[in-house]
Amino acid sequence: LDKNLNPVELVASDTAHHLHPFTDHKSLHAEGGTRIITHARGAWLWDASGRKILDGMAGLWCVNIGYGRSELAEAAYRQMLDLPYYNTFFKTATVPSIALADKVASLMPDHINRVFFVNDGSEANDTIVRLVRHYFQLKGQPEKSVFISRRNAYHGSTMASASLGGMAAMHGQGGLPLPGFVHVDQPYWFGEGGDLDPEAFGLKAARAVEDEILRLGPENVAAFIGEPVQGAGGVIIPPDSYWPEINRICRKYGVLLIADEVICGFGRTGKWFGFETYGIEPDIVPMAKGLSSGYLPIGAVAISDEICDFVIENGGEFFHGYTYSGHPAACAVALENIRILEDEKLVEHVADIAPYFHEKLMTLADHPLVGEVRSVGLLGACELVRDKATRARFDPVGRVGLACRDHCFENGLIMRSCGDTMVLSPPFPITRDEVDEMVDLARAAFDSTL
Ligand code: PLP
Repeated sequence: LDKNLNPVELVASDTAHHLHPFTDHKSLHAEGGTRIITHARGAWLWDASGRKILDGMAGLWCVNIGYGRSELAEAAYRQMLDLPYYNTFFKTATVPSIALADKVASLMPDHINRVFFVNDGSEANDTIVRLVRHYFQLKGQPEKSVFISRRNAYHGSTMASASLGGMAAMHGQGGLPLPGFVHVDQPYWFGEGGDLDPEAFGLKAARAVEDEILRLGPENVAAFIGEPVQGAGGVIIPPDSYWPEINRICRKYGVLLIADEVICGFGRTGKWFGFETYGIEPDIVPMAKGLSSGYLPIGAVAISDEICDFVIENGGEFFHGYTYSGHPAACAVALENIRILEDEKLVEHVADIAPYFHEKLMTLADHPLVGEVRSVGLLGACELVRDKATRARFDPVGRVGLACRDHCFENGLIMRSCGDTMVLSPPFPITRDEVDEMVDLARAAFDSTL
């Protein structure tokens, strides 16, 4: 720990000058200010007062290989000495951008062979909105432009990606969603399944997409987007019947299928991509977070040959890109991250430890606050409810979750609250002992929340 750090001064400076994303600054100040994280190793963080905290969220669902991997720092350092920056516009490329596009393409299904680089998940989804509309314009179907998404989905914070998202609170600010984005029910059995069994409900939720396509007219619908498992919505794990039915519906009506792998990609569900876990047949795959394990910002959009070939053949220049698309240091870091995932068999480790993670998490099901426990791979959730029998929620939704999040932090655990759902998404190398510790800390926090 840097002995010169003065947590009080840091908080004062942060309060005076720093506007944070997704933060209620009034309550931040009232509660004594920001928690300052100074360094991290493996699955553990330290704050400015020297306290050790187990990071049950891998940052923001991104530090999949864990903290402190010097190989990634060295990859960035070497690349920065050789070539800190060059762009991929105007007929230039760099060695790492070429190698990473090749590597990502090799991880995709056979019909997806090209990759467009961006800086994050929001830009990935913005890129998709423009590309897909451009594609249908080129095909002489400019009216085929509407995107269908789900309520409570999260696809980013830019104007287009937040319109794709189905977060009511976000739509309430800044005049969203933009025209051309519609939202249907989510496959959220615990909250919205009613009397149906999960598989019947999964079919019903998928058919809401079909109903919406028919209502709008298939000639007006460009694409359907979904996270294989909704992350920020509260780790909503769809029934098995859901995605196969979505595949069928999208094919039937000529609607493109976009699997948003920003959280699920690179191993989170126990396979390399969520589309493998759920049998999704995507045309386009946005990814970010786990691509570099968050060590540097980078995202990508992988696009089917059918779309790319058509746009390349008929479209001329696609007037779209970011100064840092394919940034060489970020690409070098992403390549090293993927090498570590492969060489250390970390995705296999997620699959191996997932049943243990599930079993331990399930021990929380008897807690008086917990209405449901669910997990897939190393993604887990405990739903806090006012009444276990009726599944009645707390009022207002989110208040108890935020209190629980604070208790977790005080106990030395980072858990995120999505409404009143407490979620976990720990770094992949987590051990069984650390899983035990995580669940013990969570139980203690739930007790304090009672
Ligand atoms: N898509 C999904 C599924 C996400 O979870 C997120 C972020 O959490 C995004 C897109 C947006 O990514 P970013 O925050 O990198 O812009």
